[in-house]
Amino acid sequence: MSRSALVLFSGGQDSATCLAWALTRYEHVETLGFHYGQRHQIELERRPIVISGLRQLNPEWSVRLADDHMLNLGILGDISDTALTRETEIAMQENGLPNTFVPGRNILFLTVAAALAYRRGIKTLVGGMCETDYSGYPDCRDESLRALEHALQLGMQTDMTLETPLMWLTKAATWTLADTLGGKALVELIRTETHTCYLGQRDTLHAWGYGCGACPACELRAYGYKYYSAGTAA
Ligand code: ZN
Repeated sequence: MSRSALVLFSGGQDSATCLAWALTRYEHVETLGFHYGQRHQIELERRPIVISGLRQLNPEWSVRLADDHMLNLGILGDISDTALTRETEIAMQENGLPNTFVPGRNILFLTVAAALAYRRGIKTLVGGMCETDYSGYPDCRDESLRALEHALQLGMQTDMTLETPLMWLTKAATWTLADTLGGKALVELIRTETHTCYLGQRDTLHAWGYGCGACPACELRAYGYKYYSAGTAA
């Protein structure tokens, strides 16, 4: 197993859980975030707060946490007309995909991440993509990501691998994973400091964290937290 990893870290619940997962497995962990013309910058503003929270939570994680990179992929916002990059209502499209889908986003993110990892001598990429509770995004499917991993290995002539620890987990299981990795302190850090809400709202703290409580991202997060809490209380 390689000893270093590059984690795609947006500041949301899933990528924060992936970052904790990587910190339990790799001795050197770098993080990468992207500007891509998101409507809301709140998620990105949470990144350094979550990273510093992880450092305080565990001295070993603090040693392992290395460079944090931010790259600008504003070209995605120039190309895409989606509810994540424009001020439009979140809605289902005729092709069965919600208009929060940013075409090519994960493919571009992972390709850029692989190029950065190559330059940094890192052989493992970690991403929070998930097929179980996903919104139907085709670039979150395991088959899409395995194909991309293969393309990156061939195209960069490297044995770089792509780890997706949340791929088969429900949202409740993602909360449970955080609990397993870092106990209640990590769950509390993720609950209060990460951001998932599509509308960028952060004025009300719910049982499951901050958000509008009504957008698809908030609904999924709340649903998962409810079942996680019920499971551990039982
Ligand atoms: Zn929301």
